[in-house]
Amino acid sequence: MASNLSKPDVLSVAKLPPLLLESMLAHYTVHDRLHVNDPTAFATLAPRIRAIAATGDSKVDAALIAQLPALEIISVMGVGYDGIDVAAARARRVAVTHTPGVLNDDVADLAIALMLGWARQLPRADRFVRAGAWENGPLPLGRKLSGARLGLVGLGRIGQAIAHRAGAFGMRIAYTSRSAKSGVLYPYLPSAVALAAQSDYLVVITPGGAETRHLIGAAVLEALGPQGCLVNVARGSVVDEAALIDALRAGTIAGAALDVFESEPRVSQALREFEQVVLTPHIGSATAQTRQAMADLAFANLQAQFSGQPLLTPVPGR
Ligand code: NAP
Repeated sequence: MASNLSKPDVLSVAKLPPLLLESMLAHYTVHDRLHVNDPTAFATLAPRIRAIAATGDSKVDAALIAQLPALEIISVMGVGYDGIDVAAARARRVAVTHTPGVLNDDVADLAIALMLGWARQLPRADRFVRAGAWENGPLPLGRKLSGARLGLVGLGRIGQAIAHRAGAFGMRIAYTSRSAKSGVLYPYLPSAVALAAQSDYLVVITPGGAETRHLIGAAVLEALGPQGCLVNVARGSVVDEAALIDALRAGTIAGAALDVFESEPRVSQALREFEQVVLTPHIGSATAQTRQAMADLAFANLQAQFSGQPLLTPVPGR
């Protein structure tokens, strides 16, 4: 797209949803993945790029930031920003913003849906009816969710929204995180292993990135045990997927419900074949209402930057 001198140039590093792109085009000249699609044109344009628009699964590394001397802001439409080299951005005084809060309800709703879907075998039950198998006898019994023990790995914005909902199901809630939260009444466990050992459902809702990589591995799954179900609505990187497949094969845990994967959108054949696994394609925040709210916030952060106003939702830390 040709540059317009009156509009700041923005590089989008992901295919932006129309909800965001439409508002951006009125104010910015948007270069859609130009660095990948046309590296020669990108090299010419790079000195003029003042913003990057990204989504939660985008990668923005130090090398890309280094090519953009006029870069002021990286606006992520998503709460997770583990693909952004925030340290490299900060070293260049480039702001990084994300969209926390507005997606809590949806991700928490999905976590509950995954637990219910797994416990009550909804995908299997649906297939069962469609295939006409009901005429030959009933579906094997499922499990009761109400009253079960829920372990939350992460009790931030979304973790708390999951706990709130789980409370209405009479679930007994405990959590782990890097430190105990003041003012929280749920029992705190010092590690994911300790939490798993007293959970029926272990729901992972931490950020991704190096610090949480493979936080859920063989030891945690062993502790969760043969009646336990792992639910991941965080990032694929947080769960050691090879260890999870081993645990499912061996019956070390009862099953899993997964919205995120290590190599998504590719999902390992092994995971796809387990009857005791429920799979969704990273749809935690994927409702029209919430994606609109995320787009509005990502756009508002760009607008704030270019009008000299305080950023609405910079990522935490300095
Ligand atoms: P948040 O408010 O920052 O909460 C993160 C929680 O994780 C905090 O309780 C934090 O506690 C804990 N945590 C961080 N590092 C940890 C570690 N090494 N070990 C144990 N706990 C750790 O974030 P949020 O808004 O709830 O979002 C959480 C994540 O959900 C996002 O970063 C994103 O990756 C994921 N997400 C997924 C979807 C989806 O579509 N499936 C949608 C939105 C978000 P301490 O700081 O006390 O450790």
